[in-house]
Amino acid sequence: MAPILEIKGLVKKFGDRVVLNGIDLQVEQGKVIAILGPSGCGKSTFLRCINGLEEVQDGQIIFEGEDLTKTSKWREVRQKIGMVFQSYDLFPNMTVMENILLSPVKVQKRKREEVELQAKELLERVGLADRANAYPRELSGGQKQRIAIVRALCTNPKIMLFDEVTASLDPEMVREVLEVIAQLAKQGMTMLIVTHEMNFAELVADEVIFMDKGKIHERAPAKEFFANPQTERAKQFINILNF
Ligand code: ADP
Ligand code: MG
Repeated sequence: MAPILEIKGLVKKFGDRVVLNGIDLQVEQGKVIAILGPSGCGKSTFLRCINGLEEVQDGQIIFEGEDLTKTSKWREVRQKIGMVFQSYDLFPNMTVMENILLSPVKVQKRKREEVELQAKELLERVGLADRANAYPRELSGGQKQRIAIVRALCTNPKIMLFDEVTASLDPEMVREVLEVIAQLAKQGMTMLIVTHEMNFAELVADEVIFMDKGKIHERAPAKEFFANPQTERAKQFINILNF
């Protein structure tokens, strides 16, 4: 089967500075890939390129057979690629439900009633059915992040990108968010997950890719990667985290 997402020779520069230096990656449908690597190695930029938030200088991003670096339909494509960031970017002046409905109703032009039903189901799944009419300021960080995930899911994406979604949460809230992502993995959602939660990555990811200085240095099944990293850099990285 053709991969749902294929990255070929991706190059991203900020000015003269090369931040992604020839990234190749194939992602098969239903696979969960954890992206690890030191701060500044290009993980966020990589996800942002896939979601069309950054212009790229070379290479291809082939999603469902179409090269996104050449598409003029980013608005539509972005609906199929859900992304959740470290900072919960909910609109503060809208309720939870209004935040969730915005894109499906305004951009996808779907029927409000239909989307509302789906939103309620999703809220139920993440344990927040009773918060539909709350405003973001009335929610904890963990709740906001679960809402951000629901909002992304409500556009029916084919793939989800997570960028350190638990990094700014208090420890007791990390778990409730990771559980939602683990549940998605079980349901077969294709996901790229940038995370520093190593136990989580080992448990949930099918594969790990290790990035450093704008390149993928290692790609391996998650268990194998943690048990026996092949490159010196990956070994150092894991050792520092286990300190
Ligand atoms: P990571 O997510 O792995 O920590 P980033 O993708 O955020 O790394 O950043 C990779 C490199 O690109 C860093 O050196 C960062 O300073 C640089 N960078 C990121 N965004 C920009 C930008 N908008 N302009 C200039 N440099 C940037
Ligand atoms: Mg980052």
